[in-house]
Amino acid sequence: MDPRLEGEFIAVVNAGSSSIKLSMFSLHDDRRLGPLRLELRAQVEGLGTATPHFEAAHADGTKAGSRDWPVGERLGHEGALEHLVEFIRHEFPGLSMLGIGHRVVHGGTAFQEPVVVTPEVLARLETLIPLAPLHQPHNLAPIRRAFAAAPGLPQVACFDTAFHRGQSDVADAFALPYALFEAGVRRYGFHGLSYEYIASRLPALSPRLADGRVVLLHLGNGASACALHRGRSIASSMGFTAVDGLPMGTRSGAVDPGVLIYLMDEQRMDARELETLLYKQSGLLGLSGVSSDMRQLLASDAPRARFAIDVFVHRVAREIGALAAEMGGLDGLVFTAGIGEHSAEIRRRVLSRCLWLGVSVQDAANRDGPPERRISTVDSRCEAWVIPTDEELMMARHTFRLLAAERKSP
Ligand code: ADP
Repeated sequence: MDPRLEGEFIAVVNAGSSSIKLSMFSLHDDRRLGPLRLELRAQVEGLGTATPHFEAAHADGTKAGSRDWPVGERLGHEGALEHLVEFIRHEFPGLSMLGIGHRVVHGGTAFQEPVVVTPEVLARLETLIPLAPLHQPHNLAPIRRAFAAAPGLPQVACFDTAFHRGQSDVADAFALPYALFEAGVRRYGFHGLSYEYIASRLPALSPRLADGRVVLLHLGNGASACALHRGRSIASSMGFTAVDGLPMGTRSGAVDPGVLIYLMDEQRMDARELETLLYKQSGLLGLSGVSSDMRQLLASDAPRARFAIDVFVHRVAREIGALAAEMGGLDGLVFTAGIGEHSAEIRRRVLSRCLWLGVSVQDAANRDGPPERRISTVDSRCEAWVIPTDEELMMARHTFRLLAAERKSP
């Protein structure tokens, strides 16, 4: 047994369509570091594929466990969750779990912040499945399972939409008949936990940006941008679903809705086929025909790989301009997530199209440096930063806060 994993813990579960990630945070009293410390990350990837894989590592990177399943033995979400729970139970019998924070992609209009889940809350979250059919069911399944296995253990739902709920109706509305707006057909915005984490870092890193107008760029497999004004989200590129806005690994981003009507009429595509087209076959993969992975595209000589990158950079630059217009100017840009944190080349190309906004890039800092760093020159009118995101820590913070509040109120 690992002696570090004794005492009180908060678990954070991020269950997606092909993976389940579990992070364990211990509670301690270090004022400087805050009350939560990451101790262990575990994940099962490749669910529903022929090669599911489990891996666990301590916070310092040392291996805590791994497993592969026999080829052809398809592991589902249920089995993966079972394996993760058994792993924690078996390896770390000394820990006491205080509660579990779950990532839930959609909170609709009702849930403006994280919430302790009751059976009633769970029932309401299930009604939102049609708004995020590919994600919400996977997000909710571990909550249901934990309710059944440990009825007294508090569960907290942390929403990807909540951080954006303060946006104005004007920013939220599609110009469709108003009855649809009232029925919930509106922009919600996603990646909220990531943006909230970045916003929480700004006061320490750049007080000017914490109080100013910033475009946050979450560029990973999923990609979006958010206009942050004085720490609050006022607009975002993702809309009713997480397929809107920027091109992504396999998602299209914004498409003229007329294209969909055309495909329905001319190619007789139905809703499921359009869903597969827009979510799985488009974006960087669809344009390049090479890969959904930016690293592979950057390493490729194929003209269409270059074309896909060109389209990506073009759309990101355009979105920055649109969000800067929403805020009436721009004081800073922040890059985060896989591409945003690691690709100096994409950052360079995006920033080279932002000169008109007053960005002056410091090339050496853009290429290399500590994970959290300013990459614009000291005299740059508009600052540019790289800030690694930490959605899991954000969820752990919310869970801890809500559980502490529950303990206080009798
Ligand atoms: P997810 O949205 O699944 O969490 P990530 O945030 O991990 O995804 O981002 C994955 C993307 O980041 C992939 O396109 C990957 O190629 C890209 N990426 C990771 N490291 C680099 C790098 N060094 N250079 C370019 N792209 C990178």
